Amino acid sequence: MSILVVGSVALDTVHTPFGSADEVLGGSATYFSTAASFFADVRVVAVVGKDFPEAHLAFLKSRSIDLRGLQQVPGRTFRWIGEYGFDLNDARTLETQLNVFADFKPEIPQSYRESELVFLANIDPDLQREVLRQVRSPKLVAADTMNFWITGKPEARREMLKAVNVLLINAAEARQRAQEPNLVRAARKILEWGPTSLVIKRGEYGALMVREDTWFAAPAIPLDSVFDPTGAGDCFAGGFIGYLANTMNFDETNIRKAIVMGSVMASFNVEAFSLDRLRRLTYPEIEARYKAFRRLAHFEDL
Ligand code: AMP
Repeated sequence: MSILVVGSVALDTVHTPFGSADEVLGGSATYFSTAASFFADVRVVAVVGKDFPEAHLAFLKSRSIDLRGLQQVPGRTFRWIGEYGFDLNDARTLETQLNVFADFKPEIPQSYRESELVFLANIDPDLQREVLRQVRSPKLVAADTMNFWITGKPEARREMLKAVNVLLINAAEARQRAQEPNLVRAARKILEWGPTSLVIKRGEYGALMVREDTWFAAPAIPLDSVFDPTGAGDCFAGGFIGYLANTMNFDETNIRKAIVMGSVMASFNVEAFSLDRLRRLTYPEIEARYKAFRRLAHFEDL
């Protein structure tokens, strides 16, 4: 089954306590589609400038990602500059340059219109809405957290939520959106706005799925080599939605497995700058880590 993603394709400059990376491949759609490409066909809707390196396009193509909806136009590619302190859960945005995204009008190829799953990655909610309008009848629509856009476009965000089945969100953002410090009550409030499932991302503490009547907590694997958390959320979403697309089963038990697969993909991504870890990732490694997650959370009644 195929997934359509709309989001950013970017050149990132990232500073962490362990070093810096300058103008490397990044972007919410890039991380998402690379992670999801291990499980399903992915189609990207985004825009880059003429300065976007050919080698990055070649890499995405090497992952069999469909780039027919990726426009390349005169101008500069979207850029994001961020830094992390020793608390790697806390990204500080130093600069966001929209560049070619400022007046991007997505025109999705005919072949994309039948996509079964849609992922609305971090990008202007107006763009998300425009893309969603052009997809015929998706079976599942998921959307990611987007702190930068919350303050700017509350109406568009609220409107979008009505069409979203699964919302992935950071714990802090959930509290902020719901204006509610208690996470349980915040989650319930957000569920009333449209989504049937909420996946609350808690960085190194794992993820929590909340539905009307159930909760599921997936841990994050304790890693001894966290290097750069950029893109962890998008890779989580890529593993999660990729697994659902691969199995085409949206039962709660399968959604639980998908959440673990999301955690697996995020855990690999943070081991290196940019997409460097995913570039050399193999299926046996994914399987081995999935099993490690099972062991981590397993216990038996005495
Ligand atoms: P994450 O660490 O999962 O939140 O994703 C980081 C990626 O999102 C980086 O590669 C950035 O290029 C991209 N990004 C950061 N801010 C924005 C924004 N305001 N809109 C779209 N993409 C963004």
